[in-house]
Amino acid sequence: MISKLHYHHLVSDLSDKNVKLVAVSKNRSIEEIKKLYDFGQRDFGENYVQELLEKYEKLPKDINWHFIGHLQTNKVKYIAPFISTIQSVDSLKLFLEINKQAKKYGRVVDCFIEIKIAKETTKTGMYFSDAQNMLQSAHIDQLGYVQIVGVMGIATFTKDTNQILSEFGQLKAYFINLQKDFPPHSDSFKELSMGMSQDYELAIEVGSNIVRLGSLLFS
Ligand SMILES: *Cc1c(COP(=O)(O)O)cnc(C)c1O
Repeated sequence: MISKLHYHHLVSDLSDKNVKLVAVSKNRSIEEIKKLYDFGQRDFGENYVQELLEKYEKLPKDINWHFIGHLQTNKVKYIAPFISTIQSVDSLKLFLEINKQAKKYGRVVDCFIEIKIAKETTKTGMYFSDAQNMLQSAHIDQLGYVQIVGVMGIATFTKDTNQILSEFGQLKAYFINLQKDFPPHSDSFKELSMGMSQDYELAIEVGSNIVRLGSLLFS
């Protein structure tokens, strides 16, 4: 677990660069999360619905929960009452379901379009061209309970710095492209979520403004 001093250095360094920290707490205990919460951390990211529901029950209610894992449409209803941000939206179908469930609670959920940048076939996310088509479809303007705030991506897990930089560069280019093409969304569409423990410094160099760190904080 990161020390309090080290945590505060990290956060102040990130905030100097206008980068927000989401602490990825999947597989971490309530006690570990509480410790980081006591240091002042309020944004936490989780990958699994069931695990998130248990943690939501037990932890302070002023935590902003980000969902960052693959989300099945039929599970949206469980997190809709409280989720603050869903960073891993990868289809129009999922957007429509989030909108429908958020509407029941009169809430607006911030969402990221997850775009595929890694070469590995296992990495999730939409292809850029599909994201582009989706934003052009008429449905997207009818999402009154969803606010599309940006894009998220996961780079290939590799030691090859050039490859990582090129994938992050690609995501940034996609982001700028979508932002430019879709002025109706551009007011809120300003977040670029990229960078994990292993590659967040590279991501920030390229222009990330949200990093998702797990192991760096918790191990
Ligand atoms: C697990 C996870 C992270 C954090 O990974 P670390 O390498 O532990 O920092 C970030 N983003 C997503 C989408 C994850 O699934």
